Amino acid sequence: RGTIMVQVRVAQIGPHRLLVLVEDRTEARRVEAIRRDFVVNVSHELKTPVGALALLAETVEAAADDPEAVRRFAGRMQRESARLSALVHEIIELSRLQAGALGAMNLVDVDEVVAEAVDRARTTAAAKQITIDAGGTTGLTVYGGHALLVTAVRNLLDNAVAYSGAGTHVGVGLQRTGDLVEIAVVDQGIGIGKADQERVFERFYRVDPARSRDTGGTGLGLSIVKHVAADHGGDVSIWSQPGRGSTFTLRLPAAQLPPPGQLTPAGES
Ligand code: ADP
Repeated sequence: RGTIMVQVRVAQIGPHRLLVLVEDRTEARRVEAIRRDFVVNVSHELKTPVGALALLAETVEAAADDPEAVRRFAGRMQRESARLSALVHEIIELSRLQAGALGAMNLVDVDEVVAEAVDRARTTAAAKQITIDAGGTTGLTVYGGHALLVTAVRNLLDNAVAYSGAGTHVGVGLQRTGDLVEIAVVDQGIGIGKADQERVFERFYRVDPARSRDTGGTGLGLSIVKHVAADHGGDVSIWSQPGRGSTFTLRLPAAQLPPPGQLTPAGES
């Protein structure tokens, strides 16, 4: 922080002339360091489920003549593989986002994004008797990638459900504030203390690693949300109080409507 990295190259281009090239490498070095960290973190995170699977396979083999034990260990193997596959899926998604692969920018209907994300989160919510309330139709639109935005809202909803008690409510609020579309996911869950609030957006950061593992969390959900927001020219912020709940708000630039003349369908005056 505060220092800059430069690369200096000097060439003699004449008897009394030197050419000095000074290149600012600060950003390049920062990106390299992030990439290195990512690889180290990923290897570490992959080791846990892979190690667990190997151990479970050995145990199943040893318990071959105890059908009840085999069933139990097979169930745990299925859960570990599901975790592993979620992890690999999110790592790929995050790498694509980090490479800036946003793809085509389309006019996206935010109501549809929310409806789709809520739909997909409903099964896990129902299993905990958690109801998800999404408001009515707003007609709000943004420019971006439909699937990426669904993923972002879905990640927020999955967390809201994972870190809330049975029988609570999760709400999704949609509104326009000035030039921004705000999507807020509100829960009545365990909340996040002040010191952790900034850190939860870091890759693989978890307030309580054991709990995150129990819920099948990968520690990547919020960094994906942050990337999706940034790629859309927006951001994500958090309000939370331990014991009361959390609100994550995604703010995205609203799509500007075309000038009135262009709203008339072609062929009509
Ligand atoms: P994970 O897969 O572990 O949920 P995330 O990146 O989605 O990873 O979240 C990082 C951490 O932030 C979680 O492990 C959890 O400790 C905390 N967290 C995220 N969302 C919430 C929430 N709605 N309520 C309480 N804690 C949360």
